[in-house]
Amino acid sequence: MNRPKRIVIVGGTHGNEWTGIKIVTHYQNQLKEKFPKLNLEFIIANPVAHEINKRFKDEDLNRAFQFLGESRATYENGRAQEIKDIIEREACLVLDLHTTTSSMGNTLILPNYHPMNLSLCAKLSKQFKDCRVIGAPDPGKKYLASQSEFGIILEVGPVANGVVDAIPLESTLSLIESILEEMSDPNSPEIGSLELYEETQDIAYPTNENGDLSAYIHAEFQEKNFEPINGHYSPFKSFQNEEIGMKTEEPLYPIFINEAAYYPQRLAFTLCRKRTLKF
Ligand SMILES: [Zn+2]
Repeated sequence: MNRPKRIVIVGGTHGNEWTGIKIVTHYQNQLKEKFPKLNLEFIIANPVAHEINKRFKDEDLNRAFQFLGESRATYENGRAQEIKDIIEREACLVLDLHTTTSSMGNTLILPNYHPMNLSLCAKLSKQFKDCRVIGAPDPGKKYLASQSEFGIILEVGPVANGVVDAIPLESTLSLIESILEEMSDPNSPEIGSLELYEETQDIAYPTNENGDLSAYIHAEFQEKNFEPINGHYSPFKSFQNEEIGMKTEEPLYPIFINEAAYYPQRLAFTLCRKRTLKF
Protein backbone atom coordinates (compact mmCIF):
# COMPACT_ATOMS: atom_id res chain seq x y z
CA MET A 1 0.00 0.00 0.00
CA ASN A 2 1.19 3.49 -0.78
CA ARG A 3 1.87 5.10 2.55
CA PRO A 4 2.56 8.79 3.00
CA LYS A 5 6.06 9.62 4.22
CA ARG A 6 4.81 12.77 5.87
CA ILE A 7 3.55 12.32 9.44
CA VAL A 8 2.07 15.23 11.39
CA ILE A 9 2.19 14.60 15.15
CA VAL A 10 -0.09 16.89 17.14
CA GLY A 11 -0.04 17.52 20.89
CA GLY A 12 -2.13 19.87 22.98
CA THR A 13 -5.32 19.81 20.94
CA HIS A 14 -6.67 19.97 24.47
CA GLY A 15 -4.48 22.40 26.43
CA ASN A 16 -4.64 20.55 29.76
CA GLU A 17 -3.50 17.18 28.35
CA TRP A 18 0.20 17.46 29.01
CA THR A 19 1.38 14.10 27.67
CA GLY A 20 1.06 15.04 24.01
CA ILE A 21 2.50 18.51 24.66
CA LYS A 22 5.61 17.07 26.33
CA ILE A 23 6.07 14.61 23.48
CA VAL A 24 6.02 17.45 20.95
CA THR A 25 8.33 19.70 23.00
CA HIS A 26 10.78 17.10 24.36
CA TYR A 27 10.89 14.12 22.00
CA GLN A 28 10.63 15.49 18.48
CA ASN A 29 14.40 15.56 17.78
CA GLN A 30 14.83 12.03 19.07
CA LEU A 31 11.96 10.77 16.89
CA LYS A 32 13.29 12.62 13.83
CA GLU A 33 16.72 11.02 14.32
CA LYS A 34 15.26 7.57 14.85
CA PHE A 35 13.06 7.67 11.71
CA PRO A 36 15.14 9.44 9.06
CA LYS A 37 13.09 8.02 6.15
CA LEU A 38 9.99 9.87 7.33
CA ASN A 39 9.15 13.54 7.12
CA LEU A 40 7.98 14.26 10.67
CA GLU A 41 6.26 17.53 11.62
CA PHE A 42 5.16 18.47 15.11
CA ILE A 43 2.44 20.91 16.17
CA ILE A 44 1.18 22.24 19.50
CA ALA A 45 -2.41 22.62 18.44
CA ASN A 46 -3.82 24.89 21.13
CA PRO A 47 -0.95 26.83 22.78
CA VAL A 48 -3.29 29.48 24.23
CA ALA A 49 -5.35 26.84 26.04
CA HIS A 50 -2.13 25.27 27.31
CA GLU A 51 -0.95 28.61 28.72
CA ILE A 52 -4.08 28.74 30.87
CA ASN A 53 -3.95 24.94 31.42
CA LYS A 54 -7.52 24.50 30.20
CA ARG A 55 -9.08 22.12 27.67
CA PHE A 56 -9.80 25.11 25.39
CA LYS A 57 -10.06 28.90 25.43
CA ASP A 58 -13.38 29.61 23.68
CA GLU A 59 -14.56 26.27 22.26
CA ASP A 60 -13.32 22.68 21.95
CA LEU A 61 -10.70 22.69 19.17
CA ASN A 62 -11.38 19.00 18.51
CA ARG A 63 -14.94 19.89 17.48
CA ALA A 64 -14.15 23.25 15.87
CA PHE A 65 -13.27 21.91 12.42
CA GLN A 66 -16.95 21.39 11.61
CA PHE A 67 -17.52 25.17 11.89
CA LEU A 68 -14.81 26.29 9.44
CA GLY A 69 -16.21 28.76 6.95
CA GLU A 70 -18.68 30.09 9.52
CA SER A 71 -17.73 33.47 10.95
CA ARG A 72 -17.22 32.47 14.57
CA ALA A 73 -15.05 34.88 16.50
CA THR A 74 -13.31 32.23 18.59
CA TYR A 75 -9.61 31.59 18.98
CA GLU A 76 -10.13 27.91 18.14
CA ASN A 77 -11.99 28.68 14.90
CA GLY A 78 -8.97 30.58 13.58
CA ARG A 79 -6.55 27.97 14.90
CA ALA A 80 -8.54 25.14 13.26
CA GLN A 81 -8.14 26.83 9.88
CA GLU A 82 -4.37 27.23 10.38
CA ILE A 83 -4.00 23.56 11.33
CA LYS A 84 -6.17 22.39 8.43
CA ASP A 85 -3.93 24.39 6.04
CA ILE A 86 -0.81 22.72 7.48
CA ILE A 87 -2.31 19.23 7.23
CA GLU A 88 -3.55 19.76 3.67
CA ARG A 89 -0.21 21.08 2.37
CA GLU A 90 0.77 17.53 1.35
CA ALA A 91 -0.64 14.02 1.93
CA CYS A 92 0.10 12.94 5.49
CA LEU A 93 -0.80 10.70 8.38
CA VAL A 94 -2.06 12.72 11.36
CA LEU A 95 -1.43 11.40 14.88
CA ASP A 96 -3.44 13.45 17.36
CA LEU A 97 -2.23 12.81 20.94
CA HIS A 98 -4.80 12.86 23.72
CA THR A 99 -5.16 11.56 27.26
CA THR A 100 -8.19 10.66 29.31
CA THR A 101 -8.92 10.62 33.04
CA SER A 102 -10.74 7.33 32.40
CA SER A 103 -8.98 3.93 32.69
CA MET A 104 -8.92 3.39 28.94
CA GLY A 105 -5.41 1.94 28.54
CA ASN A 106 -3.88 2.45 25.09
CA THR A 107 -6.93 3.39 23.06
CA LEU A 108 -6.84 4.32 19.37
CA ILE A 109 -9.76 6.19 17.83
CA LEU A 110 -10.36 5.99 14.09
CA PRO A 111 -12.38 8.74 12.42
CA ASN A 112 -11.89 7.22 8.95
CA TYR A 113 -11.98 3.53 7.97
CA HIS A 114 -9.31 3.86 5.26
CA PRO A 115 -7.60 0.43 4.94
CA MET A 116 -4.23 1.94 5.91
CA ASN A 117 -5.68 3.25 9.19
CA LEU A 118 -7.36 -0.10 9.85
CA SER A 119 -4.17 -2.02 9.11
CA LEU A 120 -2.06 0.19 11.40
CA CYS A 121 -4.56 -0.21 14.24
CA ALA A 122 -4.77 -3.97 13.69
CA LYS A 123 -1.01 -4.24 14.12
CA LEU A 124 -0.89 -2.07 17.23
CA SER A 125 -3.77 -3.90 18.89
CA LYS A 126 -1.81 -7.15 18.50
CA GLN A 127 1.48 -5.62 19.74
CA PHE A 128 0.26 -3.72 22.79
CA LYS A 129 -1.42 -4.83 25.96
CA ASP A 130 -4.61 -2.90 26.66
CA CYS A 131 -4.69 -1.56 23.11
CA ARG A 132 -8.20 -1.28 21.74
CA VAL A 133 -9.68 0.54 18.82
CA ILE A 134 -12.78 2.72 18.80
CA GLY A 135 -14.39 3.31 15.43
CA ALA A 136 -15.81 6.84 15.30
CA PRO A 137 -16.57 7.62 11.63
CA ASP A 138 -16.60 11.39 11.21
CA PRO A 139 -18.19 12.31 7.86
CA GLY A 140 -18.68 15.93 9.05
CA LYS A 141 -14.91 16.16 9.73
CA LYS A 142 -15.28 17.80 13.11
CA TYR A 143 -12.12 16.19 14.57
CA LEU A 144 -8.60 17.45 13.96
CA ALA A 145 -7.47 13.93 12.90
CA SER A 146 -10.22 13.88 10.23
CA GLN A 147 -8.54 16.62 8.23
CA SER A 148 -6.54 13.91 6.40
CA GLU A 149 -7.97 10.57 5.25
CA PHE A 150 -5.04 9.07 7.16
CA GLY A 151 -5.62 9.93 10.82
CA ILE A 152 -5.50 8.25 14.23
CA ILE A 153 -6.37 9.71 17.63
CA LEU A 154 -4.29 8.26 20.48
CA GLU A 155 -6.26 8.35 23.73
CA VAL A 156 -4.22 7.03 26.66
CA GLY A 157 -5.22 6.93 30.32
CA PRO A 158 -5.94 7.21 33.11
CA VAL A 159 -4.08 10.42 33.87
CA ALA A 160 -5.32 13.60 35.53
CA ASN A 161 -5.43 16.77 33.46
CA GLY A 162 -2.37 18.99 33.88
CA VAL A 163 -0.24 16.04 35.00
CA VAL A 164 2.68 14.17 33.40
CA ASP A 165 2.46 10.52 34.44
CA ALA A 166 5.15 8.02 33.45
CA ILE A 167 2.86 5.23 32.26
CA PRO A 168 0.72 7.19 29.78
CA LEU A 169 3.74 9.22 28.62
CA GLU A 170 5.86 6.16 27.90
CA SER A 171 2.92 4.20 26.46
CA THR A 172 2.08 7.03 24.07
CA LEU A 173 5.72 7.21 22.96
CA SER A 174 5.80 3.45 22.36
CA LEU A 175 2.59 3.63 20.29
CA ILE A 176 4.06 6.47 18.20
CA GLU A 177 7.32 4.59 17.64
CA SER A 178 5.47 1.45 16.50
CA ILE A 179 3.38 3.49 14.07
CA LEU A 180 6.52 5.19 12.71
CA GLU A 181 8.32 1.85 12.33
CA GLU A 182 5.36 0.56 10.38
CA MET A 183 5.22 3.69 8.21
CA SER A 184 8.97 3.38 7.49
CA ASP A 185 8.57 -0.14 6.10
CA PRO A 186 6.89 -0.21 2.68
CA ASN A 187 6.95 -4.04 2.62
CA SER A 188 5.27 -4.59 5.94
CA PRO A 189 2.51 -7.20 5.47
CA GLU A 190 -1.09 -6.01 5.80
CA ILE A 191 -3.45 -7.49 8.37
CA GLY A 192 -6.96 -7.82 6.88
CA SER A 193 -9.15 -7.84 9.93
CA LEU A 194 -9.69 -5.58 12.94
CA GLU A 195 -11.91 -5.82 15.99
CA LEU A 196 -13.25 -2.44 17.03
CA TYR A 197 -15.82 -0.78 19.25
CA GLU A 198 -18.46 1.56 17.82
CA GLU A 199 -20.38 3.99 20.00
CA THR A 200 -24.12 3.34 20.28
CA GLN A 201 -25.40 5.21 23.34
CA ASP A 202 -24.31 7.93 25.76
CA ILE A 203 -25.30 7.38 29.40
CA ALA A 204 -25.84 10.51 31.51
CA TYR A 205 -25.31 10.87 35.25
CA PRO A 206 -28.49 10.82 37.34
CA THR A 207 -29.21 14.45 38.30
CA ASN A 208 -31.55 16.31 40.61
CA GLU A 209 -33.99 19.08 39.61
CA ASN A 210 -31.11 21.62 39.57
CA GLY A 211 -29.07 19.54 37.16
CA ASP A 212 -26.53 18.61 39.87
CA LEU A 213 -25.21 15.06 40.08
CA SER A 214 -27.32 12.88 42.38
CA ALA A 215 -25.03 9.85 41.98
CA TYR A 216 -21.45 8.91 41.14
CA ILE A 217 -19.76 6.05 39.29
CA HIS A 218 -19.94 2.85 41.33
CA ALA A 219 -16.53 1.72 42.65
CA GLU A 220 -16.91 -1.65 40.94
CA PHE A 221 -17.78 -0.05 37.61
CA GLN A 222 -14.92 2.47 37.55
CA GLU A 223 -12.36 0.12 35.93
CA LYS A 224 -14.77 -1.65 33.56
CA ASN A 225 -13.93 0.12 30.28
CA PHE A 226 -14.27 -2.35 27.38
CA GLU A 227 -15.66 -5.12 29.61
CA PRO A 228 -18.90 -6.63 28.30
CA ILE A 229 -22.24 -5.85 29.93
CA ASN A 230 -25.13 -8.12 29.10
CA GLY A 231 -28.38 -7.42 30.96
CA HIS A 232 -28.48 -5.88 34.44
CA TYR A 233 -25.60 -3.83 35.80
CA SER A 234 -25.02 -1.16 38.48
CA PRO A 235 -23.00 1.75 37.10
CA PHE A 236 -23.94 4.33 39.75
CA LYS A 237 -24.30 4.80 43.48
CA SER A 238 -26.44 7.64 44.80
CA PHE A 239 -25.12 10.03 47.45
CA GLN A 240 -27.69 8.31 49.72
CA ASN A 241 -25.70 5.07 49.25
CA GLU A 242 -28.19 3.30 46.97
CA GLU A 243 -27.06 1.28 43.98
CA ILE A 244 -28.64 2.42 40.73
CA GLY A 245 -29.23 -0.39 38.26
CA MET A 246 -29.58 -0.29 34.48
CA LYS A 247 -30.04 -2.89 31.77
CA THR A 248 -28.76 -3.60 28.28
CA GLU A 249 -30.64 -5.68 25.69
CA GLU A 250 -27.47 -7.04 24.06
CA PRO A 251 -23.75 -7.31 24.90
CA LEU A 252 -22.39 -3.75 25.07
CA TYR A 253 -19.04 -2.33 26.16
CA PRO A 254 -18.62 0.87 28.23
CA ILE A 255 -15.91 3.43 27.41
CA PHE A 256 -14.87 6.81 28.81
CA ILE A 257 -16.18 5.86 32.26
CA ASN A 258 -15.82 8.98 34.47
CA GLU A 259 -13.96 11.20 31.96
CA ALA A 260 -13.51 14.63 33.57
CA ALA A 261 -14.03 16.55 30.32
CA TYR A 262 -17.56 15.20 29.95
CA TYR A 263 -18.89 16.34 33.35
CA PRO A 264 -20.21 19.66 31.93
CA GLN A 265 -22.50 17.64 29.64
CA ARG A 266 -23.27 15.24 32.56
CA LEU A 267 -22.02 12.39 30.38
CA ALA A 268 -21.00 9.44 32.61
CA PHE A 269 -19.88 6.91 29.97
CA THR A 270 -20.68 5.64 26.49
CA LEU A 271 -21.80 2.17 25.44
CA CYS A 272 -20.34 0.51 22.34
CA ARG A 273 -21.00 -2.50 20.16
CA LYS A 274 -18.07 -4.71 19.23
CA ARG A 275 -17.57 -5.41 15.56
CA THR A 276 -14.98 -7.09 13.33
CA LEU A 277 -14.09 -5.31 10.10
CA LYS A 278 -12.57 -7.19 7.15
CA PHE A 279 -10.64 -5.13 4.66
ZN1 LIG B 1 -8.17 15.33 24.47
